[in-house]
Amino acid sequence: MILFPGGTIVSAVRFENGKGESETLAADLIVEASGRGNLTLGLLESTGQPLPEETVIGVDIGYATAVFAIPDNAPADWTAVMIFDPPAEGGLAGIMLPLERNRWIMTLVGHHGHKPPGDWDGFLAYAQQLRTRTIYNAIKGAERLGGVARFGFPASVRRHFDRLEKFPPGLLPFGDAICRFNPVYGQGMSVAAQEACLLRELLRRRGKETGPLDGLAPAFFAEAETLIETPWALAAIPDYAVPETEGDRPDDLEQTLEFGAGLVQLAATDAQVHKLWTEVLHLLKPQSVLRDPEIVERVKALAAQA
Ligand SMILES: Cc1cc2nc3c(=O)[nH]c(=O)nc-3n(C[C@H](O)[C@H](O)[C@H](O)COP(=O)(O)OP(=O)(O)OC[C@H]3O[C@@H](n4cnc5c(N)ncnc54)[C@H](O)[C@@H]3O)c2cc1C
Repeated sequence: MILFPGGTIVSAVRFENGKGESETLAADLIVEASGRGNLTLGLLESTGQPLPEETVIGVDIGYATAVFAIPDNAPADWTAVMIFDPPAEGGLAGIMLPLERNRWIMTLVGHHGHKPPGDWDGFLAYAQQLRTRTIYNAIKGAERLGGVARFGFPASVRRHFDRLEKFPPGLLPFGDAICRFNPVYGQGMSVAAQEACLLRELLRRRGKETGPLDGLAPAFFAEAETLIETPWALAAIPDYAVPETEGDRPDDLEQTLEFGAGLVQLAATDAQVHKLWTEVLHLLKPQSVLRDPEIVERVKALAAQA
C-alpha cells in the first residue's frame, strides 16, 4: 500500500503479478481481506498511527480431519453427526458431514493438551473417546480417502477498529481481518458475507452524495460491530467455559452459562424454542430474541426444578 505525502490516504495497492513483477494499482477504495489483517496493522504501525484494541480469547484449538467413502451399510437413521462434550469435561468435539461424491468429512476437535493426533490409530482412538460411539462406529470400518490433515487455531481475535479516532481513508479491513472467530462455530464466512452486504448497502446509500467514500470506514466499522456482536457472544461464552481458555471472562459468565444450559434443555423439548435458537446460531436472528421474557421465565422454572 502506498500513502500520499501527508501520510493519511491509502491510494494504491502494490502487488506481485503473475510474472513475479511488482505492480502498483491505483484505487479509490482498497478492501483488505487478507484474513490475518497484517497488511492493515503493518500500515498503521509503519505510519505511526494507533493500532486497534483487541479482545483475544486464547482457545488453543487443534483440528484433525479425514475424508471417507460412505459405505453401503452406513446407518440410515442420520445424515450428519455433531458431538460436543461439555466444556467442563474436556470439550472434545466430533463433526461428521456428508460431502459430494458419496463421502463423509469428519473432524475431531480438542483444546490445549487434548488435541487430536494426526496418525490414523491415534485419530481412531480419539474418536472413541467422544461421549457417544456414533462417529467411531461409522468410521472404524469405512474406507479412508487420503490422510489425516491437522490445523491449529490459537485464538479468536476481535479488533475494535470502531474505537479508533481516525482511520486512513481509502482503506477498509474486512472479514477475518476485523474479527477471527473460533472456527468450531462455523460463523466466519457467514459474517464476511453479511459484511459484504453491509458494504454494498453503504456504497448504495452514499452513491449519490459528493465524496461517497468520505467516512466510509468508520461507518462500516460501527455497523459491522452489530453484525459481529451475536456470533462473538455465541462463541465466546462457551469458549470461556473451558477452564484453560485465556482471556477476560465477563463478570456474569456463570449466569450466562446457566441460562445457556437451561435454554438447551428447553429447546430439547420445545420445537419453537429449538427453531428460534437455531435461527440465532445461524445468524438469522439476533441473540436478544432468546431473552424474550417468556423464554427467560421458562428457563428459570426449569432451573428451579433441577
Ligand atoms: C478450519 C476452519 C474451518 C472453518 N469453518 C467454517 C465454517 O464452517 N463456516 C464458516 O462460516 N466459516 C468457517 N471458517 C472461517 C472462514 O474460513 C473465515 O472466516 C473466512 O474464510 C474469512 O474470510 P476472509 O476473506 O476474511 O479471509 P480468508 O478466507 O482467510 O482469505 C484471505 C485470503 O487472502 C490471502 N492473502 C493473505 N495475505 C495476502 C497478501 N499479502 N497478498 C495477497 N493475498 C493475501 C490468503 O492467502 C487468503 O486466500 C473456518 C475457518 C477455519 C480455519
